[in-house]
Amino acid sequence: MAKRADAIIIGAGVIGAAVAFELAKRGYRTLNVDKLPASGYGPTSNSCAIVRAHYSSREGVAMAYEGFFYWKDWARYLGVVDDAGTARYMNCGTVLLKSATGHHEKVLKHYRDLGVEYEEWDNRTLVEKIPVYSTDAFWPPKRPDDPHFWDEAEVELDGAIFTPGSGYVNDPQLSTHNLQRAAEAKGGEFIFRKAVGEIRRENGRVQGVTLTDGLEIDAPIVVNVAGPHSFVINRMAGVEDDMNVKTRALRHEVHHVPAPPDFDFEHDGFHTSDGDTGIYFRPESGNHILIGSEDPDCDPRVWVDDPDNYNRGVTEKQWEAQVYRLARRMPSLRIPTERKGIVDLYDVSDDWIPIYDRSSVDGFYMAIGTSGNQFKNAPVVGHLMAELIDRVEHGHDQDNDPLKVRSVYTGLELDSGFYSRKREVNPNSSFSVNGEECRT
Ligand SMILES: Cc1cc2nc3c(=O)[nH]c(=O)nc-3n(C[C@H](O)[C@H](O)[C@H](O)COP(=O)(O)OP(=O)(O)OC[C@H]3O[C@@H](n4cnc5c(N)ncnc54)[C@H](O)[C@@H]3O)c2cc1C
Repeated sequence: MAKRADAIIIGAGVIGAAVAFELAKRGYRTLNVDKLPASGYGPTSNSCAIVRAHYSSREGVAMAYEGFFYWKDWARYLGVVDDAGTARYMNCGTVLLKSATGHHEKVLKHYRDLGVEYEEWDNRTLVEKIPVYSTDAFWPPKRPDDPHFWDEAEVELDGAIFTPGSGYVNDPQLSTHNLQRAAEAKGGEFIFRKAVGEIRRENGRVQGVTLTDGLEIDAPIVVNVAGPHSFVINRMAGVEDDMNVKTRALRHEVHHVPAPPDFDFEHDGFHTSDGDTGIYFRPESGNHILIGSEDPDCDPRVWVDDPDNYNRGVTEKQWEAQVYRLARRMPSLRIPTERKGIVDLYDVSDDWIPIYDRSSVDGFYMAIGTSGNQFKNAPVVGHLMAELIDRVEHGHDQDNDPLKVRSVYTGLELDSGFYSRKREVNPNSSFSVNGEECRT
């Protein structure tokens, strides 16, 4: 006899686990299937797990601001104690450097409208807070092989926006395990080391999945939360043709360096979004710094056709690009001789805005295209998807009347139409980590 569930969730990353928890809370018998050995072992485990609100759209700010309250309230939100421990939210605050991108202007408008707390810092305040920062402006972002990379700056930054209510989660994989335990406490089930090989459909409705080992699992609802494999799963379900916005996998490196020895960046540093040099960075334990690229135009984009097969090694060129950019912002940084870091994949949509939606096949849903910046939103997405699935299964016409979902902590309205698979590619996007927004 085939195994049965009310909802199969393909993937047990942070969003897959959050969707499970929120559906299980609403009485659905959920089953997450993941081909890896444990929850959060995929890209989630390599996430910088930065929680920040500075997106350039109202929707982006509203969702991320809401997410911040979940992380602050994490243990209570989960409602269970995980024997493995509880992930910790580190509220270090975020510095968004005012750069020639003009990103901060869009952000400020939404901060004011939505009531996000912020401070405007001039360069003097910036250096008082972080004496190791240079306030020089190096725009536009360059790579170290550019003959002007080390040129002396002729102008200064225009200060920064500080958002006190932001930071990062110290262990993204553990936070996913926490969600798994919370979902299990509500009756959810997880199976690992099992890959979905087929999505079964009949008369325009999903029937369930078949695993690559032949096991059939029946369910009236299947949710694609497969991260960089999202396009593979969508093709299995035959739903890509109906989508205006699609997804593909992009390789991304994050590097790990010791902070300058004269400054305790771990305790006194801030997550910093430096659009002027094209990087983001945040404090890491042991007085280290994690550095990612904000994907400025000069950085090559490495699209990956097969998400199971790509170069997982840190490359000298990208390491130098990111670490040397940090050295421009932090002149006392000591460039390490050993190149440390991780390589993983973003699941990038055509406009770098996620797709949280139903599909052309009844009962088949997707929470995909997270474009390197949706860890922070995982619990909000869980809530949004559970509301959407529940309402659509009860007859709501999502395509013609996209749901407005009330968020739990801030009470702000989330417009699911913004995340529709059928939207026009958003022209306000920068089509980068800066996205319509700023990645991470
Ligand atoms: C290097 C890096 C840094 C990042 N930094 C940040 C950050 O600072 N802040 C932020 O907000 N976001 C960040 N992100 C983005 C964030 O981590 C992701 O948006 C989030 O983790 C996505 O979670 P998920 O549950 O959708 O998917 P994933 O973690 O991608 O999990 C998908 C799961 O699906 C499983 N799967 C795939 N195919 C199958 C199949 N056929 N059968 C069974 N299982 C399958 C995989 O094994 C995997 O475990 C970063 C991402 C990366 C890669």
